[in-house]
Amino acid sequence: MTAQSPTTPITQDVLTLPRKDVAGKPNLIGLTRPQLREALIAAGTPEAQAKMRVGQVWQWLYHWGVRDFDAMTNLSKPFRAGLAEEFEIRLPEVVTRQISADGTRKYLLRIAGGHEVETVYIPEEGRGTLCISSQVGCTLTCSFCHTGTQRLVRNLTAAEIVGQVMVARDDLDEWPVPGATRREDRLISNVVLMGMGEPLYNFENVRDAMQIVMDGEGISLSRRRITLSTSGVVPEIARTAQEIGCLLAVSFHATTDEVRDRLVPINKRWDLAALLGALREYPRLSNSERITFEYVMLKGVNDSDEDARRLVKLIAGIPAKINLIPFNEWPGAPYERSDWARIEAFADIVFKAGYASPIRTPRGEDIMAACGQLKSATERGRKRASEITAEAGV
Ligand code: SAH
Ligand code: SF4
Repeated sequence: MTAQSPTTPITQDVLTLPRKDVAGKPNLIGLTRPQLREALIAAGTPEAQAKMRVGQVWQWLYHWGVRDFDAMTNLSKPFRAGLAEEFEIRLPEVVTRQISADGTRKYLLRIAGGHEVETVYIPEEGRGTLCISSQVGCTLTCSFCHTGTQRLVRNLTAAEIVGQVMVARDDLDEWPVPGATRREDRLISNVVLMGMGEPLYNFENVRDAMQIVMDGEGISLSRRRITLSTSGVVPEIARTAQEIGCLLAVSFHATTDEVRDRLVPINKRWDLAALLGALREYPRLSNSERITFEYVMLKGVNDSDEDARRLVKLIAGIPAKINLIPFNEWPGAPYERSDWARIEAFADIVFKAGYASPIRTPRGEDIMAACGQLKSATERGRKRASEITAEAGV
């Protein structure tokens, strides 16, 4: 493990709001089952009834998508009135929804404190992926990432994380209808934590939100349909396996420490050897299949044949898929996308070594919804282009 450079502070010291995040009643959304139980008891539900009440309220919230206590018809009227008195059902507010020519939908959501985050829905043949954010901005400063240029950072609450899934289900009209047979094809069949922020710097809230999303009596997405992407927060990787158990993706992006230090500065804290050590353990700990290695293709920086060969050597023995991401440009970005022929040559070397090496088609580029392009529109204190270039070391 290499020491952290004193000139590039890496901090996870960001604001986490308490559950009662704004003046007003506590929000029922985002509470885990045990927390919901506690909240109901604190509000006067007799302990003997608590388990049943939790089950009922849970189903209304997360199976039926109900937002109005009065619609919870298997609860007595006085109990419903008591809930309405004590609690709220509060979701992020949709500020704008943009729909790309390719069908990708980008939602700009407003959360407590007037902050904004983005969520992206990507429909594909036979599946639909919702890309959700875990923080407003990101404390890390990967030099190719637009989110990393945003100064302001705050952790999202569990409610704001699960709320992104619920808001998208609202927009896609995906909640079940009483009496109707359940739709087999789910519009949101997969969730990826690949939006704004580093999910492992907001571990507890991400874990609680994913536990709600995975719960079989609610949204009920299998853990194998959730992928968490990390830039390499090594100490939290084993915990992710044990406490969430979802699939893991890692923003690898380079095959030497020298280049990775420049692209993904967290590498100065946990270098390639430390990262690979944690990744080797992941499949066993989580009982899951392959790890996805994300690799952004930057012209002349990390895209040579030699890089491809080094990559294959480094990951030997890890069940893996290499997802090659053509660099998505943003205003002032200090890199260029590798040429298509170069990306294909790189993919070919990786493929011949026995790894799937799909090239990720950029989606929603016309609405700046592609990987690494997300950034709050209202964000004011932006980094200067010169700072970005200095961090990139180019
Ligand atoms: N913070 C987490 C998750 C969000 S980023 C992480 O870094 O893993 C999702 C993926 O998009 C990451 O692999 C990220 O490195 C990549 N990415 C960021 N900016 C990009 C850009 N401009 N073009 C292509 N991919 C980018
Ligand atoms: Fe943060 Fe991920 Fe962007 Fe790096 S790539 S700045 S970790 S969001």
